[in-house]
Amino acid sequence: MADKRIKLLADIEQEVIKLKKSPLYAERIKNGTFPVIGGGSHRAKVMFVGEAPGRNEAKTGKPFIGSAGKILDQMFQSIGMERSEVYITSIVKDRPPLNRDPSPKEITIYGPFLDRQIEIIRPRVIATLGRFSMEYVIRLFGLGNQLKPISKMHGKSFGAKASYGPIKIITLYHPAVAIYNQSSKGTLLEDFKILKQYI
Ligand code: URA
Repeated sequence: MADKRIKLLADIEQEVIKLKKSPLYAERIKNGTFPVIGGGSHRAKVMFVGEAPGRNEAKTGKPFIGSAGKILDQMFQSIGMERSEVYITSIVKDRPPLNRDPSPKEITIYGPFLDRQIEIIRPRVIATLGRFSMEYVIRLFGLGNQLKPISKMHGKSFGAKASYGPIKIITLYHPAVAIYNQSSKGTLLEDFKILKQYI
């Protein structure tokens, strides 16, 4: 079972590596960088979904290892959650130039890979980081009518039905909001407590 998950996730990696139809493909080849598929436990109960890799992530192929990743590590630490026990990915798997927001076209191209990752890992909880992944995941599970600005939805939990059973979607701010803003960090820390029950 675990081996099957590894193989299915490796298939996704191979497909993304060859994803010439993505507007970000040429950029990746030009820069000699990597796509970031995801990392962590293939049996994770909790999956985190960010937006798109940044510079450090594209250099290494690993998710959330730059400054937003440092904040995320502090969040994990604050509730005693281990990075190795969760799975971390993002909607868009290649870095948008200059860290711009992912375009609707990019989200449409890469989204189905995230859908497959959810089906493979079967998390009980999907924690979205930022408004792009919040909007994508909430719509994916048919809850689009509950969408509001992230300032209203952060720190909340939504029950949803996955193909493999009931799940919770937890909508959080992106950790990058806290890099230069202590009060946002306080909000993130407070919101993160909701995840404590899933350790
Ligand atoms: N932001 C993301 O959404 N993902 C990363 O890996 C880094 C920053």
